[in-house]
Amino acid sequence: MGSRVWCAGADTLSSGLVLSLERMSTIEQIDPEQRVVTAQAGVTLQQLQDTVAQQGLMFPLDLGARGTATLGGNASTNAGGNRVLKYGMMRDMVLGVEAVLADGTIINALNPLIKNNAGYDLKQLFLGSEGTLGVITRLTLRLRETAQSSQMSLVAVKAFDDVKRLLRHMDRGLGGQLSAFEVLWGDFYQLVTTLPAQNRPPLPHGHPFYVLLESHGTSHPMEHERFAAALEDALRDDIIDDAVIAQSERECATLWSIRDDVAQVFNDGDALLFDVSLPISAMQSYVAAVKHGLAETACMQCWTFGHVGDGNLHFAVQVPRGASRGAQRMR
Ligand SMILES: Cc1cc2nc3c(=O)[nH]c(=O)nc-3n(C[C@H](O)[C@H](O)[C@H](O)COP(=O)(O)OP(=O)(O)OC[C@H]3O[C@@H](n4cnc5c(N)ncnc54)[C@H](O)[C@@H]3O)c2cc1C
Repeated sequence: MGSRVWCAGADTLSSGLVLSLERMSTIEQIDPEQRVVTAQAGVTLQQLQDTVAQQGLMFPLDLGARGTATLGGNASTNAGGNRVLKYGMMRDMVLGVEAVLADGTIINALNPLIKNNAGYDLKQLFLGSEGTLGVITRLTLRLRETAQSSQMSLVAVKAFDDVKRLLRHMDRGLGGQLSAFEVLWGDFYQLVTTLPAQNRPPLPHGHPFYVLLESHGTSHPMEHERFAAALEDALRDDIIDDAVIAQSERECATLWSIRDDVAQVFNDGDALLFDVSLPISAMQSYVAAVKHGLAETACMQCWTFGHVGDGNLHFAVQVPRGASRGAQRMR
């Protein structure tokens, strides 16, 4: 279990014992008919994604740390990633777990069924419990069919009310295919599309909000047209002010890399990253209160972005160099 500075979820005391599941890295069984995989907890997310892809299947959890994050870590933090809107969180993907308690008792709850409504759902106790109840050693996970096409767009929006309207408009217009709805507040967009950031702005700076939209669809030739039509309607109805549509997988990857370039918040100092879940209806006033409070008390820069479609925001608050260590210690 490695350490993540920003959440300190795996930090240990000097007297602590560190347990590595690195060698529990076997994907034991893939059942393409049931669309279920059984894997050991030390398998990395990327290893699982790549292996099931060879059978035309997809494990839909995806996050930046895919190359190092393990399935046990994903499960014990109930990780969500970028596509919660369509596929849910880890809690929605884990069908069963095997776990070992501190006294050596093995809990076997490796259920392979999607519908299992008998008795207590023991696995849920372990999901999101951050290792406090025991060590997850194996998991059964639900797989999905690989999306046959992916459409992406970056749009500019002038007001948060329009961000909310856009979410409903696109979800309705795409018939449930909307897989990501990531909002970048204007100052964060400027930061991640200005040198020393590697990406240049696909849309001009100066809009209050930018939304990254992704849809996972079928191989039907009209998918692109359907996506573009939903955006044209949004433009006509004055929900969005401007839009670019990715024309290739490379352009999709570029749009994601803009959203994921969070490291830019460390350019001029340290930064503390916060992960806040709240209803969409409360977001606008909450963000305003946080930014106002920080500016009043400490003149600190605060960037905001997040999975608005899931009711989840990130705040990156700039602090003087070295101060973030002290803040971590205060947790
Ligand atoms: C509360 C929380 C929520 C998070 N949500 C997200 C998210 O939604 N999206 C995202 O991109 N990232 C998220 N993260 C970041 C997190 O680093 C990743 O979710 C990643 O999945 C962690 O995997 P890892 O193998 O690196 O785990 P580690 O960083 O090694 O461990 C993370 C935590 O899980 C425990 N743990 C690890 N393996 C096991 C195991 N086999 N059995 C029992 N406990 C174990 C550790 O003790 C530690 O508490 C979250 C982190 C935390 C702490």
